[in-house]
Amino acid sequence: MEIVRCTNGVGVWEVVSDNGSSQVFDLRSDAENFLKNNDHDCWENAQPYEFEEHGRRYHGWECGICGKLLQTG
Ligand SMILES: [Zn+2]
Repeated sequence: MEIVRCTNGVGVWEVVSDNGSSQVFDLRSDAENFLKNNDHDCWENAQPYEFEEHGRRYHGWECGICGKLLQTG
């Protein structure tokens, strides 16, 4: 995926996927965030997490990039 500056005069940013689809953003920072959250495989960046609350232990896997919860234990 890559960010391209739209040249239609409106001044928007377009994130183009490898599969040809695209998404348009007004702000470059929004486009960058979208890219960051989508241009990776969450499972390939899975990080184990573990914490204790109310005497119960929670653990599982979450994405180290976007923080998406992948699996609870
Ligand atoms: Zn992710």
